Amino acid sequence: MAVGVLALQGSFNEHIAALRRLGVKGVEIRKAAQLDTISALIIPGGESTTMAKLAHYHNLFPALREFVKMGKPVWGTCAGLIFLADKATGQKEGGQELIGGLNCTVHRNYFGSQIQSFEAELAVPDLAAKEGGPESYRGVFIRAPAILDAGPEVEILAEIRVPSKKPIEEKEVAELQEEKADSEEKVIVAVKQGKLLATAFHPELTADTRWHSYFLKMVSEEEQTLSISEGNLDEK
Ligand code: GLN
Repeated sequence: MAVGVLALQGSFNEHIAALRRLGVKGVEIRKAAQLDTISALIIPGGESTTMAKLAHYHNLFPALREFVKMGKPVWGTCAGLIFLADKATGQKEGGQELIGGLNCTVHRNYFGSQIQSFEAELAVPDLAAKEGGPESYRGVFIRAPAILDAGPEVEILAEIRVPSKKPIEEKEVAELQEEKADSEEKVIVAVKQGKLLATAFHPELTADTRWHSYFLKMVSEEEQTLSISEGNLDEK
């Protein structure tokens, strides 16, 4: 199983170290042609404007978009999530180029600036179901984005409660009547859409390798599907 990690900027070394702990050698990806040699890709956290500028400089966008379109497994963490989103808000004028493919709108710095970084316990039932361990996962959020809106094909894996930013005039009567409803709402912080996985937090910065293992299972399922369909072709 050849898993690539986009190595332009950000926490790619930490992802490679997490893969190594699971016995998988991650391949550093810097050139478009290298994408032909891997079956899955991780896009790390970092700074999405810088990463986009470097990706543009190395002419990586067409090949990255093709990789996603081919249905190969791709996992974006933090800035990587922003990269995979179809639409990003909260950007400076002009924004940055995105790969797209994930049917959602992401707010780039939803939780604020660097000093508003935090850790939080998240309930992730699907992670516990597939990887064992507790349902609760401690997420590291660094100048993190959040998903504000997701299409029907997007499976929500984790959400987080945040102080409500909704103006009072937009609230439903029922929301206002409910206790605490005017002080809290939920935003999405982990999703899956087909072979795309995206997390607003940084699993590569923790000792818990369950998210990496979760992604590797998506990769091996894809490889099995491919070898079955190739087998079918051979029989014909
Ligand atoms: N919000 C950051 C950005 O826009 C991403 C932060 C991160 O990857 N830790 O790039």
